[in-house]
Amino acid sequence: MLIVMRNSATEADVRTVEDMVRAMGFRPHAMPGAVRTAVCVLGNDRQVDGGPFEALPCVREVIHVTKPYKLVGREFHPDDTVVRVGPVSIGDGNLTIMAGPCAVEDEEQIVSTAVFLARNGAAALRGGAFKPRTSPYSFQGLGLEGLKLLAAARDASGLPVVTEVIDEKSVELAVDYADMLQIGTRNMQNFSLLKIVGQTRKPVLLKRGMSATVKDLLMSAEYIASEGNENIVLAERGIRTFSDASRNTLDLCAVPSIKEKSHLPVLADPSHAMGVWDKVLPVARAAVAVGADSLMIEVHPNPAAAKSDGPQSLKFEMFAALVAEVKAVAAAMGRSLTVLGG
Ligand code: PEP
Ligand code: MN
Repeated sequence: MLIVMRNSATEADVRTVEDMVRAMGFRPHAMPGAVRTAVCVLGNDRQVDGGPFEALPCVREVIHVTKPYKLVGREFHPDDTVVRVGPVSIGDGNLTIMAGPCAVEDEEQIVSTAVFLARNGAAALRGGAFKPRTSPYSFQGLGLEGLKLLAAARDASGLPVVTEVIDEKSVELAVDYADMLQIGTRNMQNFSLLKIVGQTRKPVLLKRGMSATVKDLLMSAEYIASEGNENIVLAERGIRTFSDASRNTLDLCAVPSIKEKSHLPVLADPSHAMGVWDKVLPVARAAVAVGADSLMIEVHPNPAAAKSDGPQSLKFEMFAALVAEVKAVAAAMGRSLTVLGG
């Protein structure tokens, strides 16, 4: 339920409403707007009686919400959210590209990649320091050393950095180095991890679980938002289907569907969907055309030697070609490419 206050309502009126919500056993979440404040009621699993609120002279109206995701849904928040990652805005109508290697491997690899990307159309650097690999024998990431190398790459390139967190310890370390925390597909329903990143004030890139529905994704985002962190970008990275055309199936239909249901920006990740480098470009074009706010592209200076996800990683010149093409698709839709300092 959303309790919309009158324009003339005072802070004391808002506190009265919040106290009434608490007295009913629910959690109030005040949402100050440009003109008036609304108080969202959280924690109810069935419709709450709006009568006592409607009776208050300081309340303009009471709106019942039909969706289980409240803070991330459009019912409570019709306007698009713009998420700031360092100096970069995601969701402002323009196209933002995050790119970089799957994993941080050494200083030369991450710094040379970051410097190239900054000059060639990327607005953020991605790179894993903690890698949740399918096999325990695969490269697990450099951990803290990887975070330090990401920070060095940010200093060298100016690009804000995005890195995956996998547990409480990695969040504690990453908040001091990264500009955005990524929750990977395998952890989308790790609810205790979602709560932990929700308690930080870092923007979060939440990747859709490979077997999760759009509703599951939005409920996971709600976990983060309900802890007080609404700086969330939702990522479509491909789901498991019967199709054997690609590593995963990029659910392009999900992009406009999520944007209709939620005010949060949407990122598409054609690299993890396709699994092979030479199909990343055509799918990236399609993702922009269908309305993605942002793209995530894996890039490596020498994909053949990459410690993870080499087969899907683009060489530098291929990334530059991709940027030129997706920029043209965006321009056809009246959108421009976000570049640093641009
Ligand atoms: C990644 O971004 O490198 C990654 C592991 O992604 P996902 O969680 O989508 O597989
Ligand atoms: Mn990867």
